[in-house]
Amino acid sequence: MAFLKCANCGKRLEAYAQKHRCPECRGMVEYQYDYEKLKASEFIGSFSFWRYRNFLPKVKNVASMGEGGTPLHKARRLSKTLKLGSVYFKDETRNPTNSFRDRCAALLVSNALDLKHKAVVCATNGNLGASLAAYCAKYGLACHIVVPRNVDMGKLAQMLIYDAVIEEHGEIVDDALEKAEEIAAETGWYQGSAELNPLAVEALKTIAYEVYEQVGVPDWFIIPMGSGGTLYAVWKGFKELGKTGKVDSLPRLIGVQAEGCSPIVNAYMQNVQELTLKTKPSTHALAILVKNPSYGRLALEAVKESKGLVISVSDEEIFSAEQELAKLEGIFAEPASAATFAALKKLANQRVIGEADRTVCLITGSGLKATDILQALTKKRKTAVVGLELSTKEKILRILSEKDTYGYDLWKKLGKTMTRAAIYQHLNELSKRGLVVSYEENGKKLFKITRRGEKVLRAMDALKLLL
Ligand SMILES: [Zn+2]
Repeated sequence: MAFLKCANCGKRLEAYAQKHRCPECRGMVEYQYDYEKLKASEFIGSFSFWRYRNFLPKVKNVASMGEGGTPLHKARRLSKTLKLGSVYFKDETRNPTNSFRDRCAALLVSNALDLKHKAVVCATNGNLGASLAAYCAKYGLACHIVVPRNVDMGKLAQMLIYDAVIEEHGEIVDDALEKAEEIAAETGWYQGSAELNPLAVEALKTIAYEVYEQVGVPDWFIIPMGSGGTLYAVWKGFKELGKTGKVDSLPRLIGVQAEGCSPIVNAYMQNVQELTLKTKPSTHALAILVKNPSYGRLALEAVKESKGLVISVSDEEIFSAEQELAKLEGIFAEPASAATFAALKKLANQRVIGEADRTVCLITGSGLKATDILQALTKKRKTAVVGLELSTKEKILRILSEKDTYGYDLWKKLGKTMTRAAIYQHLNELSKRGLVVSYEENGKKLFKITRRGEKVLRAMDALKLLL
């Protein structure tokens, strides 16, 4: 029932043609269906990715590791803080390799098996490589992954452990994509790059189907944009729900990019067709670091058609959003995903999104995969351990920095929570390190902080500001 069609000029191609651009006009090609016939089709089986297989191109060999069917968390604490109505997070970190790309891997590897391929090649800035490597491992396909130099450590670790062949090419994923296209042409391997295989969009549209089943059609749907393919896929999903008579309204889409790499947002703001970034892109949200977004035009059209908007957020905003999301809702999102919440905060402040609105933010992948977070955590862990060891000593230093104090008074000021012997033990150790000295007054020992002790306190304060 499915066929390929150019999204630009409408030219029809045979299905599974392994083409992503129209031979006539170079427009992106996509799968289309006979929607009148599809009206009679149903969702089948349990709440998971393959429940929607009647709405996907035909598959004989189903590759599955339990993808899809991810939770939609209602964020009660965050919506209260932001004075918003209902906020939901679609938690794609709960997929087999902890990102939304497992949906793509399931469909692509199924298709590769149907077409009797033995090897898959893909360009990726991380999540897709991790997913495809795992699914290829399970189904015995060779997996060749082209990554740019900028790739998250956790994702690279996944590709390595799943035994993919990893080739580094260029700075960003745009470079890697060219290489993957070359390799597929030379070797005949199955093209698994999301931007080069229209099945990826089909796989991701199931996110829309699931959200519809979980909460109906939201007022707003906030989605991170790298190539723009994910946003376009979610839009395609909702449109299909409309075409098959399941819904009679559509969400307004909000596309989010990082300030340091926002070609789609720029094109929207300046109302121009040009979508390639002229400057060198830079953001820590590596999953959305794409200079030349292949689905950019389609994503922009989707945003406009939905009466939505696009917005960019800074890396600082992304990181504080990431921490808040974890602290208040228990969701550990990668930077590209936390960008959706950073955007929500901005739009709540600007009163674009209000108390009556129901909003869904797409959390595409887990924070455990991102390099920066791993580094920040190692730093924090070290400090936390040091902090624990010093807590009583730090308290003693703080008391002494105000005035010289007798041992007995220190014990009282510390709330008598430990023995006096323990206090003297701490004082002993502090004086051995040259942070405290003692002197006699009225036959009793008075303790005093040294200049060095004061320096240590100041350093600790500086460290706390940093964290
Ligand atoms: Zn065309």
